[in-house]
Amino acid sequence: MAHKKYTRVVLKLSGEALAGEIGYGIDPTVIQSIARQIKEVVELDVEVAVVVGGGNIWRGMAGSAKGMDRATADYMGMLATVMNSLALQDSLEAEGVPTRVQASIEMRQVAEPYIRRRAIRHLEKKRVVIFAAGTGNPYFSTDTTAALRAAEIEAEVILMAKNKVDGVYSSDPKLDDNAVKYDEVTFLEVIQKGLGVMDSTASSLCMDNDIPLVVFSITEEGNIKRAILGEEIGTIVRGNK
Ligand code: UDP
Repeated sequence: MAHKKYTRVVLKLSGEALAGEIGYGIDPTVIQSIARQIKEVVELDVEVAVVVGGGNIWRGMAGSAKGMDRATADYMGMLATVMNSLALQDSLEAEGVPTRVQASIEMRQVAEPYIRRRAIRHLEKKRVVIFAAGTGNPYFSTDTTAALRAAEIEAEVILMAKNKVDGVYSSDPKLDDNAVKYDEVTFLEVIQKGLGVMDSTASSLCMDNDIPLVVFSITEEGNIKRAILGEEIGTIVRGNK
């Protein structure tokens, strides 16, 4: 068996990663590819918890920019993450991977409530745990959820799968030809330089709790496994270099 660098990870999937080229909703081929990639690492005996975003369906900020009450718009965003989580669960189970969805907003007919100790037990039994509904609080993001849950379940790393970039750049590579990709960067630099990896709340939480982050592209199949094996893909973000 290939030598893995991590044994318990949080995989953060943005909503956009599920939308693929369409840019909206859920692309079945893309979600199946992600499910296969997750299966590959479960087969390495890695405990995988997934935090799924909702930006492919709804973002609270966008709603509030159009005059909607921010908290209401954010709750809608959290519900969007539940839809994505159920879709991912479906794809994983079709691949034969046992899963549990735990939601931070109670909805017992569709998901278990988030219970930290139970989540850890599922992971120990090699079930993939999908954390849905963000933190359960408006004004937060699913990046912050990933940082929070990673700290709670004592994950060794957050694998941040992106679908449009393959790491952290000095500026937006789509707009700036001189943008340089970092191999390693610190959370402090991310915050001070506004590097657009994750929001500042999420970055601070990772920094304060010493949770490293691997930012990489999900569009290249096999990349989740490469990240687990410690191959140098994308960018590593740490507390200190
Ligand atoms: N959200 C929230 N609290 C949370 C997590 C998410 O209010 O703890 C809402 C927020 O409106 C956000 C939306 O859910 O815009 C979707 O999450 P996010 O933008 O993080 O998804 P991603 O960018 O990863 O697709």
